[in-house]
Amino acid sequence: MNDFETIETDVLILGAGGAGLFAALHVNEVAPDLSVTVAVKGLLGKCGCTRMVQGGYNVALAPGDSVERHFMDTVEGGKWLNDQDLAWTLVTVAQERVRELENELGCFFDRNEDGTVHQKAFAGQTFDRTVHKGDLTGIEIVGRLAEQVWARGLNRLEDHRAVEMIPSMDGQSISGVLMIDMRIGDFVFVKTRAVLLATGGGPTMYRYHTPSGDKTVDGMAMALRAGLALRDMEMVQFHPTGLLAGAETRMTGTVLEEGLRGYGAYLLDGDGERFMDKYDDRGERATRDIVSRAMFEEMRTGSIGPLGGLYLSMAHLDEGEVRRLFKGMAQRCADCGFDLAGDKVEVVPTAHYMMGGVEFGADGGTEWNGLFTAGEDTGGVHGANRLGGNGVANSTVFGGIAGDTIGRWTPQQGAFHDPDEATIEAAIGLCRTPLSKPPGDLETIRTGLADIMWDDVGIVRDAVSLERALGNLTALEADLDGIGVDGGNLTYNLTWHDWINLKNMILVSRAITVAALARNDSRGAHYRSDFPETRNLESSTFTRVRYKDGAITTEAHPVHFTRVKPGETLLEE
Ligand SMILES: Cc1cc2nc3c(=O)[nH]c(=O)nc-3n(C[C@H](O)[C@H](O)[C@H](O)COP(=O)(O)OP(=O)(O)OC[C@H]3O[C@@H](n4cnc5c(N)ncnc54)[C@H](O)[C@@H]3O)c2cc1C
Repeated sequence: MNDFETIETDVLILGAGGAGLFAALHVNEVAPDLSVTVAVKGLLGKCGCTRMVQGGYNVALAPGDSVERHFMDTVEGGKWLNDQDLAWTLVTVAQERVRELENELGCFFDRNEDGTVHQKAFAGQTFDRTVHKGDLTGIEIVGRLAEQVWARGLNRLEDHRAVEMIPSMDGQSISGVLMIDMRIGDFVFVKTRAVLLATGGGPTMYRYHTPSGDKTVDGMAMALRAGLALRDMEMVQFHPTGLLAGAETRMTGTVLEEGLRGYGAYLLDGDGERFMDKYDDRGERATRDIVSRAMFEEMRTGSIGPLGGLYLSMAHLDEGEVRRLFKGMAQRCADCGFDLAGDKVEVVPTAHYMMGGVEFGADGGTEWNGLFTAGEDTGGVHGANRLGGNGVANSTVFGGIAGDTIGRWTPQQGAFHDPDEATIEAAIGLCRTPLSKPPGDLETIRTGLADIMWDDVGIVRDAVSLERALGNLTALEADLDGIGVDGGNLTYNLTWHDWINLKNMILVSRAITVAALARNDSRGAHYRSDFPETRNLESSTFTRVRYKDGAITTEAHPVHFTRVKPGETLLEE
């Protein structure tokens, strides 16, 4: 029997991004008597991707825009795979949420001279609707949310990583979550009446990626191991403009925001020629999937920059305005030796976001009694492609809704259940696997994973590459299982945590690959060179994956067009 401490809380929130923090505050508002604990792999307010949001937040506010227009952009961008009720909730509640951010939480977003909120252009949208604070919007949002969590004295478990969701003895409900206190390496079981899973996905298994380093798809891996259904896992979004500054710097892959192309930036090949017009009438302002694929093609067949990428250039625009409007971006580029406003910056498409995730209802509920989810861990809101600016809207809208639901549900139906101890034992055993083996080289596993996913499950895939990836992922996991880490000191033992991270990333990579193999057409972020056409939209299906007995299964489920069918519109003609 392994040792672990048990602590109790009425509500456990996993993750401190937009989804987790909003949920914590809403639970506290609806049911102030409940004890709420936010558990987070890093420091509260300092980790996750919401903090990294640069561009901004989509919401229909301005005259001429409407929730119907925002909805149609979202569904057409998502290539009709979205759960339309979730998408409708996103666009309608975003209006409420952005006012809450400004009026109740104290965010200051940029304004026009007449005092109205400034909204900028983001690619793939028919209206300029992206609310922002310069190009550092996420810091503004997470800063204010974190202050409220501190001010209200909600419990925090920082540097605590969730490793397994533990069912009750009867298997009917969640009983709590097993965690590791990373500061000392001890296991902690948090017994609770309700859990919010909001660990924020994040495709960090790809060679070039944008999300924060603390995100290693832990939530999705836990959900798979718990037997939950995940959807749209083949839909991995590549942002067209990741900084390319050489293999030796972690700055490579970090994103140069969409607003740059929205403002008029050009994409150039290695000879300084624009190429996007060959691929789409909207040029550089086409959706992310189209621009990323065009860049992939140019990088494969055309002329490239010294590091193998292409260029983003704003040199034809007003230099002073570019420096003023994109201060953070200009600084980031300068840090890597590039002049954003006056010259050109080498860029490469970079894995940015997972549209897929845990299936959930519009109230945040899941298949498990007492388990709720929100944010980037979930699937269904964005369909096959997420619009820039809909990510932070998603996490804050659904985080708040899940918090409201949990606040109402827990006092009425939430009970403490005894945990299934066998699952706790198995999870501790899995995590401790490498501690009893001679230390090996984890870096080769990490590089191997990045190569498999980038080369064979990336922007363009086919059956041969995906089958090859599946075989290679199985072999890589066997290699990982044979590698040990030095377990002499478990205090902030990041090598140990990397082993656990890789275990989760390989499992979720398998889910992505199996889902990509199952979808025999191309749409949105998923492009199969052996099935380049998009099938009939009216008979669209989404892919559901589950993990059982070591295997990942897939099923195709019809998309229900609950509000509008392909070919129709909610806009008045
Ligand atoms: C560079 C960048 C720029 C972006 N710009 C925009 C933009 O302009 N507009 C937009 O709409 N979207 C943008 N996005 C996407 C947006 O950030 C996300 O869609 C959204 O913020 C995700 O919110 P979340 O709460 O689900 O996850 P996150 O904000 O990522 O939070 C996840 C939390 O879970 C914690 N966690 C992870 N694993 C564990 C674990 N095992 N145990 C406990 N805690 C854990 C993390 O530490 C973190 O606190 C951007 C993303 C990036 C990376």
